[in-house]
Amino acid sequence: MRLANTPIEIGHGDILRCKGWRQEGVLRMLENTLANGEKPQELIVYGGSGRVARNWECYHAIVDALKALEADETLVIQSGKPVAVLRTSPSSPKVIAANTNLVGKWATWPVYRELEAKGLIMYGQYTAGTWAYIGTQGILQGTFETFAAAGATFPSGDLKGRIVLTAGLGGMGGAQPLAVKMAGGVCIAVEVDPERAERRIGMGYCDSIVRTAEEALRKARAAAESGETLGIALIGNAAEEFERLRALGLSPAVVTDQTSAHDPLNGYVPAGCTLAEAIDLRARDPQRYVAMSMASMARHVRAMLAFRDDGAIVFEYGNNIRGHAEETGEARAFEIQGFVPLFIRPSFARGRGPFRWVCLSGAPEDLAATDAATLAAFPDDPLLRTWMSMAQKRVPIQGLPARCCWLALGERDRLGRIFNDMVRAGRLKAPLALSRDHLDTGSVAQPTRETERMKDGSDAIADWPLLNALLNAVNGADVVTIHQGGGSGMGGSISAGMTIVADGTDEAANRIGRCLFADPAIGVIRHADAGYDEAKEAARRAGLKPLVGV
Ligand code: NAD
Repeated sequence: MRLANTPIEIGHGDILRCKGWRQEGVLRMLENTLANGEKPQELIVYGGSGRVARNWECYHAIVDALKALEADETLVIQSGKPVAVLRTSPSSPKVIAANTNLVGKWATWPVYRELEAKGLIMYGQYTAGTWAYIGTQGILQGTFETFAAAGATFPSGDLKGRIVLTAGLGGMGGAQPLAVKMAGGVCIAVEVDPERAERRIGMGYCDSIVRTAEEALRKARAAAESGETLGIALIGNAAEEFERLRALGLSPAVVTDQTSAHDPLNGYVPAGCTLAEAIDLRARDPQRYVAMSMASMARHVRAMLAFRDDGAIVFEYGNNIRGHAEETGEARAFEIQGFVPLFIRPSFARGRGPFRWVCLSGAPEDLAATDAATLAAFPDDPLLRTWMSMAQKRVPIQGLPARCCWLALGERDRLGRIFNDMVRAGRLKAPLALSRDHLDTGSVAQPTRETERMKDGSDAIADWPLLNALLNAVNGADVVTIHQGGGSGMGGSISAGMTIVADGTDEAANRIGRCLFADPAIGVIRHADAGYDEAKEAARRAGLKPLVGV
């Protein structure tokens, strides 16, 4: 499997290039993350400038280090640059990484940009710098959960006959039209870059591209009125097109946005510029560009608020557009709620979140076998069944075959051991890598997203993701990472990532059992500590005793 326009080939089959499957699995995850990225030639995976490595020299040095890594050694990465191979122990992680971390007061875009220009740091996003990106499927599952939950608020229990308006068809946002369709609705997604929209059509995530708001409205209304599902990409700037669509009389049931608003320079494209003008201005006058972006975000949020005033469900999808609009003077920005308190928190409270696995063989049969094993392990989970059957039909394989599904505390370690047994028994062509997003129950502090409006006000406390990373390191996950910034921009979050390779050994079974229990367990404990009853109940069921007063 060769990665277009780069010298990169993704390892597959049962041929080892490293000194063990753990190292090989990590290497394939790195290659697969890059292969699925938005701009692999620039090492950029998603979310504006989220990267796998600081530069190509670092990338190749990481690959060389993984190939030479012994069973009792750990590779240490500082913001995408390999800095050491140290002797640790056979049950220690193969890779530990810290990406984009700046001391609190200094965690600002100007400081970051200065350090980035000096080549000292890189942006790791969430799964980009953890090498656990699986393309748009990962976010598709979360997006489906969110739109399904939005649909559940209507009398029909779904989005049938309703229009969802959103923007951004990039690495993450590209999942929105298909997720809306899976939840029964019609999606209009405004995207400024026609190439991005075409890419989503090619992947089957979106159905048609239109160039005018009038055409988008006509198509969306026709589909909604006949109860059909449809994904429409409207080429244009969201700040402008949202206003235009409202002026034309669109009244969407749900409104959100997934432009790269977390990054006002390299992510968001301001109103008033064509894409080509934006690219030029970005390089020529970054200060002016950022000022225009910020003003445009305020306008964009005002349009979202107008839809809210009309009665739509309007939420921020974790890109910090409210924060930037507020900074630019839009005082009502935070009247828009975040999607986590609205839809996701009850899942997080019981340790339920985005578990995923990657078939390192590259063989679709391994995915089919692991899908079947998952459904057999959890026969009584209707949402899992709905998702898996739709994913099998509608989600194309990108790079190494992978699956994502939301599992709770107690379920992930169980499935991890089942998978390890399948590898041991020779039922799969090669080992699996088990991983998750950073957006999870216990692995992130992000006060405008995952930890927005926590019951006890602990939104900004970042001890929890750091404890999560420490637990995964002591329990022997194969990759453990600590990130800052992530999907919300500089200073916006602290998060932790993890991956563990199921190579069929007893030793892997032990580490999988420990890691995949403790990883969501610290999330349940975090939510129990904050006062959520579902979390206290989940902790009790899992035998986690409160030590102080919970
Ligand atoms: P991306 O950079 O790959 O894509 C962003 C897209 O927005 C691009 O296609 C770009 O052309 C388009 N765009 C930018 N400005 C626009 C404008 N004014 N109008 C119309 N289109 C515009 O980013 P991504 O990976 O898709 O992530 C999108 C955002 O969502 C980021 O801010 C990211 O941090 C955030 N995010 C949210 C979650 C979540 O769970 N909710 C997860 C990951 C990322």
